[in-house]
Amino acid sequence: MKIVLLAGGVGGARFTRGLRDLGRAEGLDLDLTVVVNTGDDLWLDALRVCPDLDTVMYTLGGVIGDQGWGRAGESTRVTAELHAYGLGWDWFTLGDLDLGTHVARTELLRSGLPLSAVTARLCERWQPGATLLPMSDDEVETWVEVEADGEVTTIHFEEWWVRHRAALPARRFLQRGVGGSRPAPGVLEAIGAADLVVLPPSNPVVSVGTILGVPGIRDAVRAARAPVVGVSPIIGGAPVRGMADACLTAIGVETSARAVAEHYGARSAGGVLDGWLVDDADADAVAPVRAAGVEARALPLLMADEATTAAIARAALDLGRELAASRTRH
Ligand code: GDP
Ligand code: CA
Repeated sequence: MKIVLLAGGVGGARFTRGLRDLGRAEGLDLDLTVVVNTGDDLWLDALRVCPDLDTVMYTLGGVIGDQGWGRAGESTRVTAELHAYGLGWDWFTLGDLDLGTHVARTELLRSGLPLSAVTARLCERWQPGATLLPMSDDEVETWVEVEADGEVTTIHFEEWWVRHRAALPARRFLQRGVGGSRPAPGVLEAIGAADLVVLPPSNPVVSVGTILGVPGIRDAVRAARAPVVGVSPIIGGAPVRGMADACLTAIGVETSARAVAEHYGARSAGGVLDGWLVDDADADAVAPVRAAGVEARALPLLMADEATTAAIARAALDLGRELAASRTRH
C-alpha cells in the first residue's frame, strides 16, 4: 500500500514512525513517502539547516534527541565556540552531531546536488524506512510579520518560534519564494500514485499549509485517486506540544479540531480532506465535521507511547480503507 504523508517536524515524525512500526509489526506492506515542510529552513553560520527534514530523518532513524529535534546525547561545544566569536544566534543552539549533518548537507548542496538528492544521500545512513522528499528543491522560507513597540517588522519563522516562543503576535506569515517554487521531483508523482494520503498531526499553518502552498501540490492532493485522511493536531482546544495556536490565531482560525478540519475543507467542497480523526475530548466535533462533508471518527489522539501511536495510525489506515471502499461502491 502506497502512503504519502505531508509532514512538519515533531508531530509528523512521530506519527510516521508509528505508522512504519505498525506496518512492520503486523507485516503490512506499507510503502511510505513523506513530503516534508522546508519552510522552516534557514542559512545559519554558513550552513543550510532544515529543521523539519532532520526531525523526520532522526526520528525515523532512531537517533532523535528527547526534545524532538537534534541528536540524542550530543554536546554543544561547537555552538559555544561560535558564540565566543560573536557568531550565530545565542537563542538557537545546534548540537555538535546535528552540526555534522548541516555541514554534510551544505557541502553536498555546494557540489551542485538539489536538496532532494542531498536528503536521499543523508538518508542512506539513517535508513528511515520511508522515502523522505523535501516539498521543494527551491528555497522557500517562512517569515513572520510582527508588531513590536508599535513598529511592524518581519523576522524569520525560527526567530519568532524559538526566540520569542511565538509570543509576539503574528500579523501574517509570508512564504518567501513559494510563488516561483516547484514541487521536488517525485512529490506530485507520489501523491498521484498513492493509495492513501495522510495529513499527520502537524502544524496546519506553517507545516502542512506551507507544503500545500507550493504551486501544484494542493491541486495534486485534490486530484488524488486516494482518500485523504487527516489527524487533528489539536486536542481539547489546545495544541498538544508547541504553539500551533499562535499560528492558527494569526490566520483567523479557532484552535479547535473542528475549525482545523473546516480550514482544510472537504475535498467534495474544494478542500483537501475526505476523513478526519479527532480526539475523544473533541467527539462533539464529529457531527459538524461530517455535516461539512468530511467523514470523522473520535479516538485517543495523544501519541503518548508506541501503542497509542500505533492505534492512531491504524485508525487512519482503517478510515482510508473505508473511504476507498465507499467510493468504489458509489
Ligand atoms: P514541528 O514542525 O516540530 O512544529 O512539528 P509539526 O508541524 O509536525 O507538528 C507540531 C504539532 O503537532 C503540534 O503543534 C501539535 O499540535 C501536534 N502534536 C504534537 N504531538 C501530538 C500528539 O501527541 N497528538 C496529536 N494529535 N497532535 C500532536
Ligand atoms: Ca517545523
